[in-house]
Amino acid sequence: MPANDVSSQRYQQVMAAIAQAARQAGRDPAGVRLVGAAKTVAVERLRPVVLAGLSIVGENYVQEAKAKIAALDLPVSWHFIGHLQSKKAAAAVHLFDLIHSVDRPSLAQALDRAAARLGKVQDILLEVNIAGEASKSGVAPEGLEDLLRTCALLPHLRVRGLMTMPPWSPDPEEVRPYFRQLRQARDRLQALNLPGVELVELSMGMSADFAVAIAEGATLVRIGTALFGPRTH
Ligand SMILES: *Cc1c(COP(=O)(O)O)cnc(C)c1O
Repeated sequence: MPANDVSSQRYQQVMAAIAQAARQAGRDPAGVRLVGAAKTVAVERLRPVVLAGLSIVGENYVQEAKAKIAALDLPVSWHFIGHLQSKKAAAAVHLFDLIHSVDRPSLAQALDRAAARLGKVQDILLEVNIAGEASKSGVAPEGLEDLLRTCALLPHLRVRGLMTMPPWSPDPEEVRPYFRQLRQARDRLQALNLPGVELVELSMGMSADFAVAIAEGATLVRIGTALFGPRTH
């Protein structure tokens, strides 16, 4: 089968699985958006998936994204989903519609300054280290409210919700409590009614566990291997 047909088929399968998970949860499938997690996926493999209908591409590395955005040259929305260094803030604000991984005040401040210079209001999510794993980025749950309050005061940032990367497990049911905790954290913070803050997005769920994440309220699922095939490096 030609590569384009494989891409299109994978895309259709993932979209059908997302829609099915949403309906099973009593949700409107339109309330769940697919972010194609495209790290290490070359433009030649990305292009057919975009032509099949993928409208949001998620990237982990600013340099890689920059090259691919220029080379792809198609109207998709680019999201940043990786760990972001403050020194890359200006480039990130220039390239991305949504940055999923804001996890510290210094980064929020760097993004706010960069957005001010560009005359942009940058949409962001706060990344939460929901299980408190030592090796993971993300703000600890105890620090989340303070980070949100800091971001809410920065005029060139707009906080749209929360993101998490839970501990890896072969069994999606083991991850469900973490997805649920992220949603509960969102509900609690939304109830603070901070001016200008509408926590509408929950970015959670990857290839192995997106159905469970959708059942727990995900609005953005970040899917790589199920969409593009195995990563080669
Ligand atoms: C790679 C990656 C994903 C997708 O992982 P898959 O298991 O390939 O679906 C999602 N989120 C982030 C932050 C990633 O780095």
